[in-house]
Amino acid sequence: MRLILLGPPGAGKGTQASRLVAKYGIVQLSTGDMLRAAVKAGTEVGLKAKAVMDAGQLVSDDIVIGVVADRIVEADCAKGFILDGFPRTVPQAEALTSMLRSKGMKLDAVIELKVDEDALVRRMESRVAETQAAGGQVRADDNPESFKKRLTEYREKTAPLSNYYAGTGELRTVDGMLPIDQVSVEIATILGA
Ligand code: AMP
Repeated sequence: MRLILLGPPGAGKGTQASRLVAKYGIVQLSTGDMLRAAVKAGTEVGLKAKAVMDAGQLVSDDIVIGVVADRIVEADCAKGFILDGFPRTVPQAEALTSMLRSKGMKLDAVIELKVDEDALVRRMESRVAETQAAGGQVRADDNPESFKKRLTEYREKTAPLSNYYAGTGELRTVDGMLPIDQVSVEIATILGA
């Protein structure tokens, strides 16, 4: 099972991804984690990526694609994988398509969790209010303003990716506003299992 989950912060991608990992015995591959590990290990890739990551910019497509290409042929990926944080751009998606083809592989699905952004913001506002009312600490980036910014950033970067995968016929859409278990059912239906 080879999958990509698309969806903005707060859409429930993390929850669904961990359920899919458990259900299908596949691995979740985060390019952010892989790059951070390379930086820590001081590999050639890590040395190239460090300054760019420190500046909060995107690492070059060649580097990220190389990291993914090496990782997906490792033994623990035999049953498949969910890509996390990759592809982030259309050129990366195109490169992924041809890299998979060259290995005789293809994606089973690209699943987009569609959400109502205003409802997500309201949900986050009430969560913050509840935490504060209970005397809890709220993280610095856990506020409606920065959340809206992340949503906008995601929309700008990701809309072209859903268009790309709609074009390849791999895109499936799920209503991410449904209850969590219902979203899982919809995903299972798409995957036919
Ligand atoms: P993340 O943990 O997904 O937020 O990624 C952390 C950092 O790793 C990002 O800010 C980028 O510098 C780099 N990175 C992760 N994934 C990618 C990607 N697909 N393309 C380019 N840079 C990436």
